Amino acid sequence: MSTARRRTATRLADGRELIYFDDSPEFLSGEREHRLDDPRPLADRFSPVPDADGVPQPFTGPQMRRDPLTGDWIPLASHRMNRTFLPAADSCPLCPARPDAEYADGEIPDTHYDVAVFENRFPSLMRVPGQDADGQGVAAPADTVPDDPRDLLEVAAPAAGRCEVICFSSDHRTSVVDLPVSRIRTIVDAWADRTTALGAEASIQQVFCFENRGRDIGVTLPHPHGQIYGYPYLTPRTERLLDQARVYRERTGGNLLRDILHAEQASGERVVLRSEHWTAYVPYAARWPVEVHLAPHRDVGTIPELTDSERDDLAVIYRELLRRADAFFVESDGTPIELPYIAAWHQMPSSRAGRTTTDDGAPLARLHLELFSILRAPGKLKYLAGSESGMGAWISDTTPERIAARFHQLGPVDLSASPASAITANGAHA
Ligand SMILES: [Zn+2]
Repeated sequence: MSTARRRTATRLADGRELIYFDDSPEFLSGEREHRLDDPRPLADRFSPVPDADGVPQPFTGPQMRRDPLTGDWIPLASHRMNRTFLPAADSCPLCPARPDAEYADGEIPDTHYDVAVFENRFPSLMRVPGQDADGQGVAAPADTVPDDPRDLLEVAAPAAGRCEVICFSSDHRTSVVDLPVSRIRTIVDAWADRTTALGAEASIQQVFCFENRGRDIGVTLPHPHGQIYGYPYLTPRTERLLDQARVYRERTGGNLLRDILHAEQASGERVVLRSEHWTAYVPYAARWPVEVHLAPHRDVGTIPELTDSERDDLAVIYRELLRRADAFFVESDGTPIELPYIAAWHQMPSSRAGRTTTDDGAPLARLHLELFSILRAPGKLKYLAGSESGMGAWISDTTPERIAARFHQLGPVDLSASPASAITANGAHA
């Protein structure tokens, strides 16, 4: 597979970054160039905001509070309530600009693109210049329980992270699963690029690439897109995974995620797809009605660490996984149901976050994707009700082995040995 990609970075009218990642021949050859300006009359995003009396007040970014009950950080995206930006019903802010059209407040000024990433206009996490705690970035938030009871309700910090939107295609009606493998490969490169860039920001501790797909997940824009969050703290789930990995390491000397992968491979019962560099399996204690984890064979902490051949292979196996996910449930007449899913990339947090390695430097995190759905049957969603929402106590409606068995009906496990599921580099279905 060609690994040629072209990266073009510019700024939107209000100062946000916009980066194009292209693989189409006309961009690679230079025959086509992206327009770099944004004709919209937008004020700088950090400019003062008028208060109720019309008096300009300095722009303030989102805040986060530390929940004294659990220790979790809760960003308060209250300023998002003030968003004035509501795209017209017939316009999609993620579609490319229409040629020769008047300004329509789309987010992408160019009329063509392959993959585009830009900073969210109404982010729940944002670093505002001049509001840094230490002038450099924002120091990692204090992580201890306050010594003084009077401080219990005082622990807060700027939610100095970053929220980006990644458009997977300029085609409004498509979906990642329908893209050619070469385009998914470009998306992998874009994830890698953003992981490196956000991970380098002094205030960011963890980079999360994810996609919410389908209205049932709460997606309001049908345009195929995902998001990239840079959190200024370690997320609760990551903290928990790190804690378990540390305990396991101390007991056995092993790397938890690697040893789980090897155990799943040895058992084979829940392995649903395998390629040269990747294995997908239903986890032993899956909590969602459909859940698959995809892990690299090599010990890798983040997407940027993947080699070209691991990225090529990922594009193929990821699309095949999504394709089978879309065949998992069928209507009574046999029509496949587009699966609402969340695709969540777990990456090694920044070393700035601390706690990511053992005392002797062994990494506790390992790159993997968790793909899961809230659909438990055609037309039936799993609600996170009393036990899950009230107690964080998950009860599965199925068994991991049943999930795996359904995947086994949908195609052979071994991708390299299955001509039936072979996918050509240009994306034609074999
Ligand atoms: Zn669109």
